Amino acid sequence: MTAVYTILLIDSDPSHAAVFHEEVRKLEKMPFRAETVTTLAKGIARCQREAVWAIFLNLSLPDSDGVRTFTELASAAPAVPILILGRVEDEGLALQALRLGAKDYILANHFDPYSIQRAIRNMLERETAEEVLFGERERARVTLDSIGDAVLSTDLSGHVRYLNRVAEKMTGWTRAEATGKPLITVLELVDGETRLPCPNPMQQATERDTPSGLTPNCILIRRDGLDCAIEDSVAPIHDRQGMVAGAVIVFRDVSKARATGIEMSYLAQHDVLTRLPNRLLFKDRLSQAIAASHRSATQVAVLYLDVDDFKRINDSLGHAMGDNLLQSISQRLLTAVRASDTVSRHGGDEFVILLSELASPGDAAAMASRILEILAAPHDIAGNSLHVTVSIGVAIFPHDGEDAETLIANADCALYQAKENGRNCYQLFERHMNVLADRRRSITEDLRYALDRNEFVMYYQPKVSLATGKIAGAEALVRWHRPGRGLVGPLDFISLAEESGLMIPIGQWILRESCRQASEWHAQGSSEIPISVNVSAVEFRSDAFLEGVRIILEETGLPPFLLELELTETVLMRNVEFILPVLHELRAMGVRLAIDDFGTGYSSLSYLRRFPIDTLKIDRSFMQDGNADASSAAIIGAVINLGKSLGHHVIIEGIESFEQIEPLVAVGADEGQGFYFSRPVNPAEFADLLSGQATLPDSAFVHLHNHSALKAVSSPI
Ligand code: C2E
Ligand code: MG
Ligand code: MG
Repeated sequence: MTAVYTILLIDSDPSHAAVFHEEVRKLEKMPFRAETVTTLAKGIARCQREAVWAIFLNLSLPDSDGVRTFTELASAAPAVPILILGRVEDEGLALQALRLGAKDYILANHFDPYSIQRAIRNMLERETAEEVLFGERERARVTLDSIGDAVLSTDLSGHVRYLNRVAEKMTGWTRAEATGKPLITVLELVDGETRLPCPNPMQQATERDTPSGLTPNCILIRRDGLDCAIEDSVAPIHDRQGMVAGAVIVFRDVSKARATGIEMSYLAQHDVLTRLPNRLLFKDRLSQAIAASHRSATQVAVLYLDVDDFKRINDSLGHAMGDNLLQSISQRLLTAVRASDTVSRHGGDEFVILLSELASPGDAAAMASRILEILAAPHDIAGNSLHVTVSIGVAIFPHDGEDAETLIANADCALYQAKENGRNCYQLFERHMNVLADRRRSITEDLRYALDRNEFVMYYQPKVSLATGKIAGAEALVRWHRPGRGLVGPLDFISLAEESGLMIPIGQWILRESCRQASEWHAQGSSEIPISVNVSAVEFRSDAFLEGVRIILEETGLPPFLLELELTETVLMRNVEFILPVLHELRAMGVRLAIDDFGTGYSSLSYLRRFPIDTLKIDRSFMQDGNADASSAAIIGAVINLGKSLGHHVIIEGIESFEQIEPLVAVGADEGQGFYFSRPVNPAEFADLLSGQATLPDSAFVHLHNHSALKAVSSPI
């Protein structure tokens, strides 16, 4: 059902009613209906009963007269537009009603079709315009209240005129309270750093008459006194003449973004685990310290520190413990240095320390030894007492480098030397270390291609039975044909291969090639001689090691009992709980195990008993000239006895002369190995030794009566 719009005539003159009804009926734009009542009371009652669209009101009614007629009706029907019908002589009254809110008036002598039509048309237009305005206002209100930004406007005198809902929440002022207050009362802004008042935004906008952003790093002090970081902009408002009439300020809470920004820039310069400065910030501080030291003629030291064997701790105790240990170390380092020094972490287990304004290099050395001492005390980590040592390299400005980069690189270089020197010590940088570092770099570079280019070769050194003088086995020793450098021995590249991650593939190649060779000799019917292969700590620790051995034995067809793996004491004594099961696995496969270089590490007797070991190889240092005295012989005797009592086979390395043999035989050594019998030789030469074409020194030495026949076999290495 379409709505019908009632136009009510309140008039007691029947002629008015007639023309009114006639004209309303003619209206076609909308479904209008005319109604007439004759008194004010009836009019008011009608309005209250049912909606009326507009009222034509004669001010002179039987029950009311004059402006009062209007005011009474207006207060009874405030939303309904009222048009006044007035007497000609009372035009003043009609105008008065107009001022009080009536929409229009018609003089009674003009109450004709034309005036009635025009009045209704005007009322319709006015209503449409008002609706549009209302709609726009409403849309603006809802928009302003629903956006995430706070909006606040002022008049030209700087008093608040409007706040949206977000502005109310952010400032703590309601719209009603804020309206009319000076802007700086409602919006108190200070500089985040200085806490001084920011320039009044509205003044800025009105004076410059252009939109602008506000002071950066601005803080709003809310009504409750709390701070809120804000970001804002301000624009002038103009009146119809284009004159500035006020300003509108838009602002938003940026506390979170600002905090995130601060955290981001912190993270970019710090290590997450220890909260220490990282490499980036360290370099920055170092450059500053160098510049300052130029001015003050003092020195600056860089201490490059690396935890000895950290990987082992991490592997065996787990990363969480490793992390805790690094935190404990960083705490101790911080207590060791002055507040003006910088302790940084450069990833992994590397810490770099900057000592500024030193009087002499001695100060740096003193600090280095102090750090060694401080870190040596046990670290209490989750109920465990951990002992760690560190190695430190020291480089000093200006002596060891002019810029941050060189100093750090040279301290690292000195650190390498400290590690070589046996760890748990510090080393001051010396020029020649650079040459060594360059050499290491170039070797590592070449090593990367060595496997692909087939540059490795295996040499074999016989192990000789001291009882029979016959070859009892062969030790496989790797060599590298480095292009342009000739044959390079393992001591010159194994540790670099370990550091650069190349040891695992190289070790695999060594094992495969040695087993293949031994299997070939075995197939050719040479007596069954076992092959001993050296295994580096890195290989042994790798997860794939056991499986690698199994696969290679299968591939090459070498009977497992003909393979002996040589592990050094240091490999075995570390991380025993991890190592024991691997040793047992190997033994279960039928592979033999030897402890190499025995006597140089710190074997614990109790472990020695637990290890499933076949052979002890006594280190060649016991055979060296300086040691060839009575006490050394006594030690060897004791070690051999120990090995024997544990049921091990005992072999002596580094026999270089005939004279060394007799005492060994006397104390019960089983086998010997050394230049006296043969240097390590290439496979063809070794095959000759095996087939008897080349000879070992006469093996009747056991009886010591056939010296003249003794003769060493020589080889390039
Ligand atoms: P090692 O396992 O103790 O090997 C014995 C070393 O002593 C060999 O040095 C050998 O040439 C040397 N040698 C033998 N007889 C004598 C002697 O009478 N007097 C003296 N002064 N030295 C003698 P090489 O070949 O230079 O190897 C050195 C070390 O490098 C080896 O010590 C071993 O630890 C390691 N190595 C050698 N080959 C390999 C390998 O294939 N893999 C691994 N992981 N390490 C290897
Ligand atoms: Mg060996
Ligand atoms: Mg050895």
